[in-house]
Amino acid sequence: MLNVCVLGTGYVGLVTGACLADLGHAVTCIDIDPAKIEGLARGEMPIYEPGLDEVVARNGEARRLSFGVDPSGALGEPDLILIVAVGTPSGEDGSADLRALFSAVDQAAGLRAASQAGGHLTIVIKSTVPVGTCRAVEAMVARRLKPGSFSIVSNPEFLREGCAIEDFTRPDRIVVGSASEAGLAAMRALYAPLTSQGFPLVEVGALETSEMIKYAANVFLATRIGLVNEFAQICERVGADVDELSRAVGADRRIGPAFLKAGPGFGGSCFPKDLRALTSFAADLGCPSEIAGAVIAANERQKHAMAAKIEEAVGARLCGRRIALLGLAFKAGTDDVREAPALSILSDLIAAGASVTAYDPAAGEHFARLVPGVRIADRIDRALADADAVVIATEWPEFLTIDWMAARLLMRRPVIVDLRNHLEAKRLIALGFTYRGVGRHASP
Ligand code: NAD
Repeated sequence: MLNVCVLGTGYVGLVTGACLADLGHAVTCIDIDPAKIEGLARGEMPIYEPGLDEVVARNGEARRLSFGVDPSGALGEPDLILIVAVGTPSGEDGSADLRALFSAVDQAAGLRAASQAGGHLTIVIKSTVPVGTCRAVEAMVARRLKPGSFSIVSNPEFLREGCAIEDFTRPDRIVVGSASEAGLAAMRALYAPLTSQGFPLVEVGALETSEMIKYAANVFLATRIGLVNEFAQICERVGADVDELSRAVGADRRIGPAFLKAGPGFGGSCFPKDLRALTSFAADLGCPSEIAGAVIAANERQKHAMAAKIEEAVGARLCGRRIALLGLAFKAGTDDVREAPALSILSDLIAAGASVTAYDPAAGEHFARLVPGVRIADRIDRALADADAVVIATEWPEFLTIDWMAARLLMRRPVIVDLRNHLEAKRLIALGFTYRGVGRHASP
């Protein structure tokens, strides 16, 4: 059992802390947001993540997991693994805003120095950070702590919201990078319960390699989505079907089937921000990432092409039309609305003069906080009432169970714009709906 402190109890920090406790470690999760910590102490999850509440409850009861706003107690533990999982959002110029990260690390190093604890401190940077950040963290900590008393490790996170527990407990690989043998040894011990089950630990000798791996993985995945969305637009023009195309292309073992689903453009808290950060620091290094830049631009185009698709489906100008927008989270299984396609679709619809009623099984509250004044229905049928079209913007399983016969009676016009190719087009067309998917044949 190792002593672990996690700084930042958001999507990544909370899942990581709870799952590490589940592996048997003693974990303290710290956050600067007292409301979040007070809620967690009462057993309330600050995020929607399937299965997380059970892991938190189980490890709280076993006294392996605790929460707080003050890291000073944890930092007094002689041997400690300090995992930094604070947010690294986009700054105004697209570069990563590292203020929270540096402030968290500086405060922790100061508290560690004041505690005069012996033993080794392993500082693990789990937040996604531009290449060179861990090196800067090392220099910052070296001003406070004696050489040899600490090491810095880069350990990027690859979990997917919506199946984060599964991704933590059954990872494709765990990546750790450090030039410090003590740091790498601490990581081997931390993840031993997973590596002993055969899950691979990829050790790299430089902080920079590990930092770069995270960006490379995200650019790869986002590029696949960007490409397939471009193919979808071409398919629409020539009468081809992008889903059939993806199945056939993905059957090639050199390509593989994952991340080949056409849609309204990618969003979320990682791909857009990480691609912007990469293009920013790559340009600063004098080797611009032209491919990542093109993927960002293509993705923006895709998101903003959706309003025109809706207008075409309605068959009239959107001004004065009522649109039901189903799905606000950036993907199913999460309440995260950061950079969700629904945000740009909503603002394009409103700019065109449409009135929108939105619904999401989990993300309504977060969405309303970002878009004050938006009309959010608490039930699907209320969103559908008198709608001139319904737009599916997230692939929630709940939308598969909609009674479309009943929905037709509620709606003013039978028009479905399925931006995730989620529904059974043939059946809906047979029911008399005008159906539009992405990169699929248009119905009459
Ligand atoms: P988040 O916004 O959900 O959580 C960050 C938390 O850090 C917040 O609760 C905030 O209050 C807290 N915080 C800020 N400053 C702090 C400080 N000084 N001390 C303690 N807590 C502090 O963010 P997230 O989605 O968990 O992302 C965290 C990092 O992980 C980012 O770099 C992100 O790019 C990366 N990441 C996220 C995901 C994901 O799916 N969300 C996946 C992989 C990597």
